Amino acid sequence: MELKNLTIKKAHDALIGGDLTSTDLLKLYLDEIKNKDKIIKSGKAGLLTGIPIAIKDNILIKGRIVSSASKILENYTATYDATVIEKLKKEGVVFIGRTNMDEFAMGGSTENSAYGLTKNPLDLERVPGGSSGGSAASVAGNMALIALGSDTGGSIRQPASFCGLVGLKPTYGAVSRYGVMAMGSSLDQIGPFGKTVEDVEILFDAIRGYDEKDSTSIKDQKPARKIFYSDEKIGGSKAESPKQKFKIGVPKSCLDIEGIDKSILQNFQESLERLKKLGHEIIDIELPNLKYSLAVYYVIVPAEVSSNMARYDGMRFGKRISGKDGIEDYFLSRQAGLGKEVRRRIILGTYVLSSGYYDAYYNKANIVRGLIADDYRKAFEKVDIIVTPTTPDVAFKIGEKAGDPLKMYLEDIFTVPINLVGIPAISVPSGIKKIGDKDLPIGIQFIASHNNEDLLFAIGKDFLGEKEN
Ligand code: GLN
Repeated sequence: MELKNLTIKKAHDALIGGDLTSTDLLKLYLDEIKNKDKIIKSGKAGLLTGIPIAIKDNILIKGRIVSSASKILENYTATYDATVIEKLKKEGVVFIGRTNMDEFAMGGSTENSAYGLTKNPLDLERVPGGSSGGSAASVAGNMALIALGSDTGGSIRQPASFCGLVGLKPTYGAVSRYGVMAMGSSLDQIGPFGKTVEDVEILFDAIRGYDEKDSTSIKDQKPARKIFYSDEKIGGSKAESPKQKFKIGVPKSCLDIEGIDKSILQNFQESLERLKKLGHEIIDIELPNLKYSLAVYYVIVPAEVSSNMARYDGMRFGKRISGKDGIEDYFLSRQAGLGKEVRRRIILGTYVLSSGYYDAYYNKANIVRGLIADDYRKAFEKVDIIVTPTTPDVAFKIGEKAGDPLKMYLEDIFTVPINLVGIPAISVPSGIKKIGDKDLPIGIQFIASHNNEDLLFAIGKDFLGEKEN
């Protein structure tokens, strides 16, 4: 029996028809797991063979339910594998489960899930961040060794920061978007969570690469450093030694923004000292248009969301509520199937794209997006890496910001510009804020220019004191 095409109904028929006993069925699955052990024993294992990984609920695994934490896709089963999943299957990973998220990745706390919220394993009264909060919680709570999330405006870096993990938002186009449910197509990227920079680098190397199925995928990517593989056939250079010393830019103006917690600013200053001690040079830089990022993001994202969400019409797939005609079906299905935040963004997006307002909002936002990208381009002529905090504060309490979308959007102040520009950034743990008897993690964000993830891994490891093996 081919497990690949097995469904409950087929298995049920075989069980009832006597072609299969339940013991046989279980044995088929155990054999499949044993195969992984065999690969390992034969010496053919890659680093990821047999490693349990959790996958965000917006990434398609063929034959498995994938709902983007939305009622409209309740029990929807993926009909194909996302490219990242295809790659991970070849590596022999073990998919341990799908993880909770904000509905269609819209949010920063994982409270916007149709299936209930996720708590931060380090403090159960607090959120794990979002939208990939379930992925972060699964690794921080030791329910998976590593996890995949997606990041449109901070959804990997912010939960990584809130849960004391490392999280990478890759260069736009480094990882194929084929098989991830689209939110903001010009900003979305799939990326890894791990407890160390090394784990994140290994997982990134496994999922990235050109993919003809994603028209925005980058052809000329830097070769992976592959410093961990002894296997000759993979090639790539050994770890650079001696250790690289970087010019690190600090956009001072972004630290003057109101609403950044004192503990974050203090920790950031300490981190800069740590970097200096490690021999890196700290340089003040200007990013004059950075202050517009949040406004630009919250025009462009709703615009892209409103067009990406049009496919959830209750006709082709997902929940369908019948009304008196097709139009009413559409309204009723979307009303019942989509949550408040998703509907808010569809309405906002439709407004900024409407003929009377297109120039005033959407076009203007696109122009400013270009100016922000120019700022970064100029800054990277002077520095190798830019550094900022990841979030304005540590993990907040469940319910604290749920009723106030603006407060929630301010959470994204440090992370959204990176997606607007398409460059890579990593969040690594940089300290702790003590609240009561709880140690709440703080994160720091390192940013590089396009395709320079390797610099982020190098600085991240140096900062955390991780050894290059
Ligand atoms: N919190 C941001 C938002 O709500 C980021 C979401 C994401 O990266 N998917 O848009």
